[in-house]
Amino acid sequence: MNLTLASLTQDQICTLAALGFGGTLARSALKVAILDAMSAIAGGAGGGAVLAPLLDEPARAAVLTDIDGTLAPIVERPDDAAVPAPARAALERLIGVFGLVGCVSGRRAAEARRLVGIDGIAYAGNHGLELLLPGESEPQLDPSLLGRERQAADFLADHGGEAGAGADLRVEDKGPIQALHWRGAADEKAAEARAHEIAAEAGRAGLEPHWGRKVLELRPVGGGGKDSAVSALLGTDGYATAVYAGDDRTDLDAFRRLRYLHESGELDAAVCVGVTSAEGPREIAEEADLEVEGPDGWVRILESLAG
Ligand SMILES: [Mg+2]
Repeated sequence: MNLTLASLTQDQICTLAALGFGGTLARSALKVAILDAMSAIAGGAGGGAVLAPLLDEPARAAVLTDIDGTLAPIVERPDDAAVPAPARAALERLIGVFGLVGCVSGRRAAEARRLVGIDGIAYAGNHGLELLLPGESEPQLDPSLLGRERQAADFLADHGGEAGAGADLRVEDKGPIQALHWRGAADEKAAEARAHEIAAEAGRAGLEPHWGRKVLELRPVGGGGKDSAVSALLGTDGYATAVYAGDDRTDLDAFRRLRYLHESGELDAAVCVGVTSAEGPREIAEEADLEVEGPDGWVRILESLAG
């Protein structure tokens, strides 16, 4: 029997992979074909070629992912978010295959671990201000924050807390970061306008405003960012390749850091996966190497990486 990749449909390739078929076709070529098939299903094209470098030496590859909007569908209230079982299963299958599996989130690191439900991977929480490594029970706080842990909370308290924020903005206390949400507010436009006023005041008070999907975050100056989170996770462990997936503006920082690490020669390959949605920023697709539709699209890519 003489099979060639070109002779197979995407469904046939996926069926072969599901059966563990690998004798006739070289495993790496088969994997590239699977990735192409899966990325096409997920709404992207050419994903196999883009992601193939990760499969050359998986033990030296890092798979990094945002959580909300990337692994877990966006919901009205962040407390109601859940990582679907297929996403959790796909991540678990990557452990031990890839050198590093890590989640990057704006949530507290411990909250991110609880939400994903896997202890054996790394979590960079609070946009990189907290690092919770596999096996550790307490996150490490970014030492540059020493003495400024309550700066954002004190600012809001001085302005009357949640009541002072007004316009139906909901305050989320994330320790060194304070988040103001307007998703689900009675008048979202009025709440967003009020958030812009608060951001301007916070800027004058020496805080950094950061914008996400229907959320304003107030952070200490220089306080983290998903670019810092990516660097903290990759550390000095000599990873050769890395992929990062995200859906929001804050993830663009991670994209740009990965790209910088590639251009400076620290990574042989860096892949940015944009998880798109109707309300997500346009830049996510513009700056991504590979675009997928929603968390389902990214999970299918993770499943294909697990082989
Ligand atoms: Mg997100």
